[in-house]
Amino acid sequence: MGHGGENRWEAEIPASFLRLRQVHGKRLVEVASGLGQEEGDGWLFSRPVAVWAAVGIADCLPVALFSRETGRAAIVHCGYRGLAAGILESGAEELCQGPTFGKTGSFLAWLGPCIGPCCYQVQEDVASSFMDVPAALASHPDSGWWLDLRRVARSRIAAYGGEIAGIVDECTRCHPKLYHSYRRAGAVIGRQFLIGRLVRK
Ligand SMILES: [Zn+2]
Repeated sequence: MGHGGENRWEAEIPASFLRLRQVHGKRLVEVASGLGQEEGDGWLFSRPVAVWAAVGIADCLPVALFSRETGRAAIVHCGYRGLAAGILESGAEELCQGPTFGKTGSFLAWLGPCIGPCCYQVQEDVASSFMDVPAALASHPDSGWWLDLRRVARSRIAAYGGEIAGIVDECTRCHPKLYHSYRRAGAVIGRQFLIGRLVRK
């Protein structure tokens, strides 16, 4: 995972990578050579291809998925709209190819930095999408609802049979020296990228 705009990571970032036109939906695009900027919120790596692909993030949650059984991998961009639409379910289904979907341990997931529940105030209509994960919501009489995207994602991943392999448990808004944050800046002035490539060992 690279930090956009910070030179110290430059040596680890490939010279070019596929990008998506991200729309906060649930569609994953299969990585292939020669693609333009497709519309979607995740990349599916079903076989090794000699290209890198990326999702851009500026408070949403970046997630990487891998199935040992099928050898497939995915990287996805998860905001509240994508989580509500089922982007992680799409990713798990694509990885598991049916037979192992929902089976415990069928895939691994890594969660990157995103806006934390400390900083993510949402309206009731957003909160209402996640009432099935009570631990992800806090409500205060004066300030309404506060949402924990990571807890929503962890709950969904567990429900689809995934196991958490790693988490960067940091709030993008609270760490200005490390991360870009849409909520802190009030606009997208920079973003993190989750970059992936599937290689055969
Ligand atoms: Zn915070």
